[in-house]
Amino acid sequence: MDTQSTGECLVCGSETKNRCSACAQAGIDLFFCSPKCQKMVWQGHKLFCGPNAFPLAFPLFSQAEASDILDSLEQPVARAEEPYTRSATVMEEIKAHLGWPDATKADLIELISSGTGDAAPSASPALDQLPAMLVWSRYAILATHRTIDSFRQFLLQGMAGFYALLFGAGALPPVLPQDLDVRSARLLHQMLCILTLHAAYSPPSPFVGEARPPPSTSEECKRCVTALMQYAVKTFGLEYLQKLSVAFKGRSRSPGPSRR
Ligand SMILES: [Zn+2]
Ligand SMILES: [Zn+2]
Repeated sequence: MDTQSTGECLVCGSETKNRCSACAQAGIDLFFCSPKCQKMVWQGHKLFCGPNAFPLAFPLFSQAEASDILDSLEQPVARAEEPYTRSATVMEEIKAHLGWPDATKADLIELISSGTGDAAPSASPALDQLPAMLVWSRYAILATHRTIDSFRQFLLQGMAGFYALLFGAGALPPVLPQDLDVRSARLLHQMLCILTLHAAYSPPSPFVGEARPPPSTSEECKRCVTALMQYAVKTFGLEYLQKLSVAFKGRSRSPGPSRR
């Protein structure tokens, strides 16, 4: 890899040669100009750093997260828009996103269980659905407005929400995260920085006893958003801003199914 190239810091947008070495090894250049910038978003970045960075992969469920999703399967989702109705359940929404309409509850339970960090390797025939499950189940339970138990869970659900919004607005190609090209993956990594900074600026709820990112200022949040916009225009062209603004405003839009 060319170690002389420079890029814009994912946090503040400054031109720099410093990149995350674990992510560079995985094949993606994610620049952080200073230890300060890297530390500000580390709580979020560490979830996708290294092997998960590229191809982009959502981390496995923690045991608590898996139980939370399993407990929520029959819960109605509070998303009113098409193609969902208020009566849709988390389970129905997951099935729709997976493109697996005839999945039974037992199928979903097996897949979710095989996606927990401490699960024994599973021979579930549906295992190729796991990367999609790691995204869409987190997205589906967002709409139940359950209490979020940990900062990790908050960040991962937020990322799934971002992915769904960008995807629904056509700002990401209609593929699973692991099939994204390096430029789109980088965009999502920067989205996670925005999410982490924002959470540190206005914490969602007290997660007792948990490590938190250092507090950020609204100025730092804005700078990160501006840096993302600049990256997007430079990389995808000016029209792309339109898609991004649809995504950010587009809480009324639904993402489509995740399968090609
Ligand atoms: Zn920076
Ligand atoms: Zn990294």
